[in-house]
Amino acid sequence: MPKAKGPTEKATLTVPEEVFRQVYDSPRSLPGKERWVTVEKDVREIERIIGIPQNSIGAPLWVSGDTRHCATCGRETNWLDIVNSALRVRHGTAMLTKVILGDQKYVNVEAPRAIADLTCFNCGAAVTDLRSFKCHNWAYAHGVLLELISELPEAGHVETQDAL
Ligand SMILES: [Zn+2]
Repeated sequence: MPKAKGPTEKATLTVPEEVFRQVYDSPRSLPGKERWVTVEKDVREIERIIGIPQNSIGAPLWVSGDTRHCATCGRETNWLDIVNSALRVRHGTAMLTKVILGDQKYVNVEAPRAIADLTCFNCGAAVTDLRSFKCHNWAYAHGVLLELISELPEAGHVETQDAL
């Protein structure tokens, strides 16, 4: 039996590049009815709010969910909402910068479900159905990919409060 995490247990692992690539490239890595990329102007806004130089972020910032838009104001939800909410709730800019721009690859093995504590960047309403997100350093694993990762001796556990 694989030592897969239970569906309610949060876990983030640091993984080798090859494993990260398998998870990142999987078409199943973003659950939900829709998948889309953070618009350019919001990527520049993310750079502004975490205090890094403009155009530092070059790779696409993906999100997925069952609905793309805020039910209250119609804004297209993306990484800007995630970063802004994370800054408000618990994370400093250093961790966010490390995740977006660093060399370390992370895989989240939490069962995909709505992201907690997420609010709309524009109107502040709760966004309840964004299911997942990924960038070139961060991806989600489930199903067979989760089993593969659970068998990796070199995968390192990361404390949830230190991760996104
Ligand atoms: Zn809104």
